[in-house]
Amino acid sequence: MHEMSLTEGVVRILEQQAAQHNFTKVKTVWLEIGELSQVDPDSMAFCFDAVTRGSAVAAGARLEIIRVPGEGFCLDCAKAVHLASRVEGCPECGGFGLRVTQGGDMRVKELEVE
Ligand SMILES: [Zn+2]
Repeated sequence: MHEMSLTEGVVRILEQQAAQHNFTKVKTVWLEIGELSQVDPDSMAFCFDAVTRGSAVAAGARLEIIRVPGEGFCLDCAKAVHLASRVEGCPECGGFGLRVTQGGDMRVKELEVE
């Protein structure tokens, strides 16, 4: 389950932010998960609860997951298209000249701290 190491990465970001910006506690984390990022939001939520327990900064933090739809630009038909998967072709023309423009990764969008 690679969500466990991803969650540890998120907690490290929270701890770095806490050191840089002088806060001691994270109350809420808004995490964007792209449709094409191959990150499972349910596993992420499960791991978050487990991993944050071991962190003074992140313990008890609430996780808000924002799902970002996959979007790409098709170089074959020159259209912006919705992408549900990286392995399927363009929904318009079936071509594979696709560039992912949105929803390809996961990132911490916002923090509520105290
Ligand atoms: Zn196309």
